[in-house]
Amino acid sequence: MLDFNLTPEQREVRKQARAFALLEVLPVAWEYDEKDEVPLFVLEKAFSAGLMNTDIPRHYGGKGFGILESALITEEVAAACPGLATSIFDNSLGMGPLLLSSNEKLKTNYLGEIRKNFKLICFATSEPVTGSDVSGIRCLAEADGADFVLNGSKYWITNGGIADYMTIFATVDPKLRYEGIGAFLIEKNWPGVSIGRPIPKLGQRCSNTVGIRFENVRVPKENIIAPPGEGFALAMKTFARTRPVIGAFAVGAARSAMEYAIDYVKKRRAFGKKLVNFQAVQFKIADMYQKVETARLLTWKAAWEADNGIDPTISASVAKLYAAEAAQEVVDEALQVFGGYGYTRMFPLEKLLRDTRLFRIYEGTSEIQRVILSGFALNDYKPVMPALEDLPLLRNGVSRDGRPPGKDRNAWRCRMCGHIHYGNRAPDMCPYCFFPERAFKKIRSRP
Ligand SMILES: Cc1cc2nc3c(=O)[nH]c(=O)nc-3n(C[C@H](O)[C@H](O)[C@H](O)COP(=O)(O)OP(=O)(O)OC[C@H]3O[C@@H](n4cnc5c(N)ncnc54)[C@H](O)[C@@H]3O)c2cc1C
Repeated sequence: MLDFNLTPEQREVRKQARAFALLEVLPVAWEYDEKDEVPLFVLEKAFSAGLMNTDIPRHYGGKGFGILESALITEEVAAACPGLATSIFDNSLGMGPLLLSSNEKLKTNYLGEIRKNFKLICFATSEPVTGSDVSGIRCLAEADGADFVLNGSKYWITNGGIADYMTIFATVDPKLRYEGIGAFLIEKNWPGVSIGRPIPKLGQRCSNTVGIRFENVRVPKENIIAPPGEGFALAMKTFARTRPVIGAFAVGAARSAMEYAIDYVKKRRAFGKKLVNFQAVQFKIADMYQKVETARLLTWKAAWEADNGIDPTISASVAKLYAAEAAQEVVDEALQVFGGYGYTRMFPLEKLLRDTRLFRIYEGTSEIQRVILSGFALNDYKPVMPALEDLPLLRNGVSRDGRPPGKDRNAWRCRMCGHIHYGNRAPDMCPYCFFPERAFKKIRSRP
């Protein structure tokens, strides 16, 4: 049964997130974007309002919300500021591997701490030399007794400069690729951890992005989230749960752009009438609306799968890919209907355009989503239709060249050009493409 109704609890969460976005996020977004700085107090307010860390299970004292609730909250916050939404949601990305880990003691300790106190946790697979190729991680984790010692660096780490805890993926040997990677929970204040300068970015400037360096950082065995060999799969499982929420970021940003465009075209005049009266403009709004709706449906489907024990990997990629690309198109078209005003820093479109651009890059670029989806479609997807060479006759009882089959009993299909030949045996050569007899497949025996 399909049901797109939200529960009363989900509607309440969305209402709360919407109010938070309008009252706490929107009023500071532009100022902090200009300053290129994270308004940490907004993150603290989100924590106090119960809008962060919502996916900590009840078992660990958390709210036990699902990915769908995360998507609902994120759409609202991202509608006000995608950068701040990234900062707020980053705890769920940072905690993701821990939530999926079997290290119960570590979970109890850190999830308990993150739930009770305002603590940030970041997530780090990317490095200066490898991002898309997670199996190419070079940050070293050398075994020292039961402990590990980390050496290397991470790059592009959201909240890395302000996080208390870090989920770090590192390898015992880069040559082992997938099989060498483990995941470790590091504290910012441990000896040997140093933080780079905030990376100056095009957009999402209300989020902090840095490099992190590890020099002989000792990780006690208690802080192993996943032992070497299990880290890569854990990172992928984490992405499968967070990518639907990236879809929600994109929906939120696109929704705002569409709403600003609707407002603008109802007021702006050209050629003696309001922009809204031009059908070309109306159709732009229609396209924006269908893209926002489609992106949300795909996002909710992926989130629903994750919450219902179905492997969401493929739906998450579909949602992330579609929503990120659609948001880019929606924001760009919204800016277009503003004309020159859209290009200024006085209206919100230019910030949305800069912020939205990131959705196609982080948590797996659009190209990497296509790698995942083409891999699935070409290898694992189970087709319904028979193979082309096994299709039934396209025109029953009559060959494609219009000649009746006569009294001959069998039909043969040329696998190269599709020609159907009727006869007791295949022809020596296809009369269309000249392929030899062995190109023909017997497709039926007439009764
Ligand atoms: C603002 C920001 C925040 C980020 N936050 C985090 C974070 O918190 N934690 C973290 O670990 N990472 C984070 N990232 C890193 C992000 O996930 C990577 O930038 C992204 O995965 C791409 O990796 P890359 O930059 O190394 O590009 P590359 O992997 O070098 O790719 C370069 C280009 O080649 C394409 N490409 C690569 N491989 C293929 C392929 N097989 N087929 C087709 N095309 C391909 C890519 O799509 C891309 O267009 C963040 C990045 C940014 C910009």
